[in-house]
Amino acid sequence: CGIVGVIGKDAAAPLLLDGLSRLAYRGYDSAGIATLVNGKIDRRRAEGKLRNLAGALEARKLDGATGIGHTRWATHGAPTEANAHPHGTDRVAVVHNGIIENHAALRTELEAEGQVFLTETDTETVAQLVDLHLARGMAPIEAAAATFRKLEGAYALALIFADHPELIIGAQRGAPLAVGYGEDEMYLGSDALALAPLTRRIAYLQDGDWVIVSRTGAEFRDEADRKVEREIKLTRLTG
Ligand code: GLU
Repeated sequence: CGIVGVIGKDAAAPLLLDGLSRLAYRGYDSAGIATLVNGKIDRRRAEGKLRNLAGALEARKLDGATGIGHTRWATHGAPTEANAHPHGTDRVAVVHNGIIENHAALRTELEAEGQVFLTETDTETVAQLVDLHLARGMAPIEAAAATFRKLEGAYALALIFADHPELIIGAQRGAPLAVGYGEDEMYLGSDALALAPLTRRIAYLQDGDWVIVSRTGAEFRDEADRKVEREIKLTRLTG
């Protein structure tokens, strides 16, 4: 339902939690955050209100300057902690707004390839698909592009990779996503409001776009994987 991403200088978790609180108006049933810590993906998730996630973060601090966060409004799978995003494996973590319509067919295919599912969500098919590509030796950008080509339905996605501490890949098809430009930091959000305290400089993805976000900027691709430019606009929203 709501997505935030940060490639920051300090701990990403507080920024992600604040961004999620700005998306709470949309409604949600659970929430979670994943960050990159020394080449590993770490995460905290909680059923119910964001204060439960805040509690989980207080109980066990989440380090890492790069991360993604999500407020979930369940469509596939009960609103439990186990089904709360981010989903993933040792290699990749994914947050997702929308519905992957061909999730059942993808799950059957991926299980036949030996991928082991941990949740009831449609979203996990995205994580398992990327994971399989990575396991077969693809680089993250290649693995993400190959995955997006197989997805049907409506989605906004954000992905982080254990081996790439300063990379977030995002995608938009039928659900919005925006990139925020900071001072030596970069952000991703499902709407500009989530990023309002962090930056006013926003570039919106167009439908079918995906984006490679690093600390120094963002590279946009259209649905045919061609390099495209997306204008940075100054939003009037303020923190
Ligand atoms: N379809 C996904 C799920 O149920 C994402 C729902 C959402 O947009 O929050 O987990």
